[in-house]
Amino acid sequence: MQLFTEFESLIDFLAYFKDEDTCKAYFEQIRFKDGLFCAHCGHKKVHRFTDGKRFRCYSCKKDFTLRTGTIFGESKIPFQKWFIAIYILTTAKKGISSVELAKKVGVTQKTGWFMDHRLREAMTQGGEKLNGDIEADETYIGGKEKTSIGISARKGRTVATPRRKRPSLDSLNAKATSKCMSPRP
Ligand SMILES: [Zn+2]
Repeated sequence: MQLFTEFESLIDFLAYFKDEDTCKAYFEQIRFKDGLFCAHCGHKKVHRFTDGKRFRCYSCKKDFTLRTGTIFGESKIPFQKWFIAIYILTTAKKGISSVELAKKVGVTQKTGWFMDHRLREAMTQGGEKLNGDIEADETYIGGKEKTSIGISARKGRTVATPRRKRPSLDSLNAKATSKCMSPRP
């Protein structure tokens, strides 16, 4: 699996993440790399509905999707757009406004603002600014050694060190919290 930071250009990035299914599969592979688990209670035994999109926990009986409990939750923005936004945010050397981000990703300004805030919060949550060691509660993206943009969910506190100096988003899978829960585009 190729990491976000390994792409040299947006063109390469898009050639890899060419459609929504690819992006979704990528995220699923990372999120559930240790097997499926309930997004609500962490229980390992879950049922996947035939639509492939929804899951139900055998323990708490609640339904969830791949997005539930992640920064992608509570929104219908395609994974591909999220990924592009992450790529842009983590590679923009001089920073970028949410208005610019919206233009580049191809979403409305409101959606751009929402994405920008969520991602920045995830990054802040995940580390000091965008660099340095990363520490996050329960979940983080990235992780040990090579993965600076992996997305995985772990119990407990984990410290991850980005493999490059370049800014990286290490909490893609971090729980969406506080102010960024709203507004929903
Ligand atoms: Zn559950």
